[in-house]
Parts: sequence; structure tokens; C-alpha cells
Amino acid sequence: MTAGAVSRTFPIPGIADNAIGLKTIEEAVAVRDKLMSNFDKAASIPAGPERDRLLTVVVVGGGFAGIEVFAELRSLASALVSKYPQLSFDDTHFHLIEAMGRIMPEVSLKTSEWVLKDLAKRGASVHLDTQVTGAVDGNVELSTGEVIPTDLIVWTAGVMANPTVVRGGDLPVEERGRIRTRADLRVGTAEEAVEGAWAAGDVSAVPDLSGGGVGGYCVPNAQHAVRQAKVLAKNLVAVLRGERTKDYFHKNLGAVAGLGLYNGVFQSGKIALKGFVAWVAHRGYHGLAMPTWERKWRVLWGWWNNLWLGRDIVNLETVQNPRYVFEEFAARPRPAAPAAPAEKPAPAQVADEKDVPVAKDAASKDAAPKAAAAKAPAAKAAAKKPAAKKAPAKETADTKA
Ligand SMILES: Cc1cc2nc3c(=O)[nH]c(=O)nc-3n(C[C@H](O)[C@H](O)[C@H](O)COP(=O)(O)OP(=O)(O)OC[C@H]3O[C@@H](n4cnc5c(N)ncnc54)[C@H](O)[C@@H]3O)c2cc1C
Repeated sequence: MTAGAVSRTFPIPGIADNAIGLKTIEEAVAVRDKLMSNFDKAASIPAGPERDRLLTVVVVGGGFAGIEVFAELRSLASALVSKYPQLSFDDTHFHLIEAMGRIMPEVSLKTSEWVLKDLAKRGASVHLDTQVTGAVDGNVELSTGEVIPTDLIVWTAGVMANPTVVRGGDLPVEERGRIRTRADLRVGTAEEAVEGAWAAGDVSAVPDLSGGGVGGYCVPNAQHAVRQAKVLAKNLVAVLRGERTKDYFHKNLGAVAGLGLYNGVFQSGKIALKGFVAWVAHRGYHGLAMPTWERKWRVLWGWWNNLWLGRDIVNLETVQNPRYVFEEFAARPRPAAPAAPAEKPAPAQVADEKDVPVAKDAASKDAAPKAAAAKAPAAKAAAKKPAAKKAPAKETADTKA
């Protein structure tokens, strides 16, 4: 079982409807495109509350993912400003909301404070000790009473083991909802293993034999996930061959984050790097960690192009709704006209035409279905009238004609 994790949210009004998570590539692409679309829209309207809303970004959660997306979006927005003469840097507003008194628990307090200062220099506000209490209609309400109207809320306040597979099965689960494994990645507890079941990555609680894990388990990150995958594969083969399995062991290498172009932060033990050097370490590490040479080549080639050509600012937001334009303008068959009445009660119809004038407009194409529909009940009603009353009516009509 390697079904990963999903965003963990709380029942805050408006979040489920207005925010977006950051757990998938699709979400990351949508966030980027949304910022670009909002710049397009903002550039075509006068200054005011609506333009402010479009140019305001709120990120919830000051962990690694939150700080990275916040700093990268700030960097992207600064680059975009130069493409829009109508907009200036001061028109853009960036807010990160963090419930705790610090950001990035994976790095030292000193390093995290450097990140805060760096973000402040770039015009991005971080609200510490603050919680989001509402986000109805995109108005982000804070526990401090402040309200921030925005069109882009990115939720990065935690992850949880994929509930679909955890809740749907009967594998042993620990208190945080992850599938419990032994050190060799076999699902089960020290007392009892589940025959034929194995787990790794974010969905699982794997004992951290290095002693560095939170609560004794490996933290959910790719550093562990990709290494666990290799151990799991080897252990499966070992079991099939009747050999002994190996326990998973990995000592955390540290943490590295990108904070926008040419800026980053790196921490391993007491060693901390900041700024450009950390950014190079960030790109270097992720380039090396990228699985398969094919993927490495594609990603590195993208970085190389960006280095010389600058950011690719092509907005592909409509990819999320690719049939929109086609559907909007597609020709559709006209609705079929209702079948004509089998028998035409001639005398009654003439008399009823006074009461049902739309029937005379039947030649008009728009009126045709209405006229036919109106005529049908009229004819039906007429048929119910006594015959004696119809005769004089016909006479009158014939005389007039
Ligand atoms: C923004 C962000 C930045 C990150 N940066 C870093 C970093 O710099 N370094 C680091 O070490 N870690 C980082 N991480 C964490 C890292 O991405 C995860 O820890 C890692 O991807 C976990 O791997 P996984 O294989 O367990 O799960 P995933 O990568 O989530 O893969 C699980 C897969 O299972 C699929 N799946 C789910 N349910 C089912 C089902 N029922 N049937 C079939 N398939 C299913 C999912 O679609 C998904 O493709 C970051 C995470 C985020 C969100």
C-alpha cells in the first residue's frame, strides 16, 4: 500500500469551497495559472476593491510546502509585474497565515527567522499565532479579526494518510491514521504481521530506527518514501526467495527549500545555508533526486531554458476546462416540434383562435413550438365543448371571411 497522503483540512466555513490544496502536480499548475489569470483580469480594470482582491494571495500553513509556494508565488508575481504596465509591485498583496509562533519546524529557529525577514523584505506578510476562522466567498477571516478578500487561497496546513484506503480496509492503523508497519515495511505490529501486506511512504507509519522521527516514526517526505520503496521491493524478492528481510534505516539528510528564483534555505544539523548558495543546493539536490534519467533530462532542460529565456508565463488555465469554448459555440439541433394533432377539429379551431392568438404566429420560427403547444390544449378544450355551441361560431367565421 503506497497511496500517499492528501491535504488535511478542518471544518472552517468556506475553505472546502474556496481554497485549493498543494498535494498534486495538477493543484500546483492550477495555482500558477490562477495567479496569471488574475493578473490578466486585474490589468484590465481600474484600481479598487475588485482589483485588490485579484492581486491578493493567501497561503494557509507555514510548513515547508506553505513557505515554498508562498515565496515562489511572490517571486512569480514580482516577475509578472514587469509585464503589466498598468500594475505595480505595491498593488500585489501576499499573506501567509500560521497558527504557531514560528514557521518551518524542520529548520532551526534562527534559520526560520531569517526566512521571515527575507519574506518581509519582499513585501510578503506572515501572520504568526493566527488562525483562519472563515473563508466564505473568498473573504479570509482571521482570529485577529482581520478580513482579507482574495481570489486565491492555498491550503497547506497539513497532510493525512489517504483516507480512502485507510478507512476502507482492515489494516492496523496508528493514532494519526497511518497504516502501521514493522521496520521491514511489512504491515503489522511487533506482535502480529499481516500476511502478504506491505506499505511505504506517506500512507504508512514506519518506525524510524535512526531515532530522529516524530513519535518514533519516519516523517512523511520523499526522502523516506523513495528509499522505502527500494527496500520494500528488495524485501518482497527476499520473501519470495525464502531469504531474510532487511529493516529500513535512513538518517535524515536535512531540509532544503526554494524561496523563489535564486533564493533558498538549507539546513542539515547545525549547518545552515541561505540565499543563492542554498538555492543552488536546492536545485542540485532535486535534480539528483529526480527518479530516472528520462525525467532528470526533461526537468533539467526546463531549468536550462528558464535560465536563458526567463520564466515561461504562458497561462494554460483553460486546460482545466478544455471543452469550454467548443461547448459554448457548438451548433445544436433544434428541439423537435411536438407531433401535430391526429384530427383537426375545424369548427372548434376557428372559434378558439380568438382565445389563443399565438396560434396565428405559427409561421415565426421562434413562436412555432409555443404556438403548437398553446394550440394543442386549446383544441383539446374545444373538443370537450358541446357540438351545438360550435355551429354558430363557424357560421360567423365563414361569413366574415
Ligand atoms: C508542495 C510539496 C513539496 C514537497 N517537497 C518535498 C521535498 O522537497 N523533499 C521531500 O523529501 N519531500 C517533499 N514533499 C513530500 C513528498 O512529496 C511526499 O512525502 C512523497 O511524495 C510521498 O510519496 P508517496 O509515494 O508515499 O505518496 P505520493 O507521492 O502522494 O503518491 C501516492 C500515489 O498513489 C495514488 N493513489 C492514491 N490513492 C489511490 C488508489 N486508491 N488507487 C491507486 N492509486 C492511488 C496517488 O494518486 C499518488 O499518485 C513535498 C510535498 C509537497 C506537497
